[in-house]
Amino acid sequence: MIPFSRELWIEQDDFAEVPPPKFFRLKPGGEVRLKYAYIIKCDEVIKDPTGKVVELRCTADLDSKTGGATSSRKIKGTIHWVSAAHAIDAECRLYDRLFTAAEPDADGDFKKNINPHSLEVITAKCEPSLKDAKPELRYQFERLAYFALDSDSQPGKLVFNRTITLKDTWAKVEKKASEDVVVNKHGLKRYIPEEVAREVRQRCGFGCVECGETIVQYEHFSPPFEDATKHDPRGITLLCGLHHDYATKGRLTKQQIAKFDANPFCKNEGFTRFKMYPDVDLEITFGCCTFRRIPVVIQIHDTPLVVIEPPEVPGAPVRLSAIFQDNEGRTTLRIKRNVLESPINNWDIKTTGHQIQICKAKGEIALELEVNPPNNVTITRLEMTYEGASVVVLRDSSFVLKSANGRSATFGQGPRGGHFIVQNFPAGILIGKDGALSVGNLNAQSV
Ligand SMILES: [Zn+2]
Repeated sequence: MIPFSRELWIEQDDFAEVPPPKFFRLKPGGEVRLKYAYIIKCDEVIKDPTGKVVELRCTADLDSKTGGATSSRKIKGTIHWVSAAHAIDAECRLYDRLFTAAEPDADGDFKKNINPHSLEVITAKCEPSLKDAKPELRYQFERLAYFALDSDSQPGKLVFNRTITLKDTWAKVEKKASEDVVVNKHGLKRYIPEEVAREVRQRCGFGCVECGETIVQYEHFSPPFEDATKHDPRGITLLCGLHHDYATKGRLTKQQIAKFDANPFCKNEGFTRFKMYPDVDLEITFGCCTFRRIPVVIQIHDTPLVVIEPPEVPGAPVRLSAIFQDNEGRTTLRIKRNVLESPINNWDIKTTGHQIQICKAKGEIALELEVNPPNNVTITRLEMTYEGASVVVLRDSSFVLKSANGRSATFGQGPRGGHFIVQNFPAGILIGKDGALSVGNLNAQSV
């Protein structure tokens, strides 16, 4: 139970006196739902002599709690809160990157690149149940981040470390991708608008028009990209990394591509090789764990690295997003929803039957997954490194997590054998910047 009272703390960011467009949190005269509790309306804004907002006077609609007479009222925003009388203070240590550059010592003096904000210490108002926080568990502070108890913590003086933030890092990744925009002589950007891309995917049956491969790239064949003045879906097709490479090198002519496009492989095959039923919840088996209702499979240092989503239409393939780096931390392969966002270079991607296999040079398997209808995707092999941390799934379905600062944990062998299920969590495998290793809400050390 979370105690409710007449005086509450809310986040400063959850109120705006002059709200920007689409601000669905609290504003003067506006209404918002308090998570797990009532709808409140902001009646009055109290300021100190300097004009700073110090208090909001609100009225609560006491019938608006779940099950109440007015509980179904449509309110756009929901914010979190704690009761001022019951809240307990906790020191929160917010860690960020230690360096501001990817190669801190590149110019011979790494000290110049130290991030002055790599540790920020704040005092948080927490709900009272946290006084019994356990060191082996992870706690989600609503909408903000996950925290773990620090060993400096004492009864009456709680100290938490932030392990994983909950911000949308895909947005960051995408922004970066759109920054290196390629423009042709007509000023047309390489980026294809989503509605055009969707039309192309559907017409091609979601696979390479030549061979049916699931992981693809967009190819302008009529006219070629350099001559195009707009993104016309009829002149764009899907090719796998290999056939795209052939097209780039001229081994596959635009006329040949047009012929495949008119008669796409997947349409002939009925594009059933990856049949899934999106009305059923997707379940992801990762080595000896099964994740249910977990959107991100692997997240390292706040970046989602493996995401598996249901198909966009019934009968289409499941959608894989993944980022691979080499040991020097350079991104070598980036896939976003089955679309290759980097040249294929030395990679080899194959779809056979219900399996997708992604191999590095020399045939080393980087990722192998199997689709088991109706709703299971099993990651059978994985070898992934990211900023010095790594995740490896072995053939016997055990897996090893390593943090950048050298901590490691193995699952699925010896006393940690057996299969376990994790549900309702934002990410399955988490490796934090502080070296924390966890599977769902379980700290690796306690499993
Ligand atoms: Zn192909």
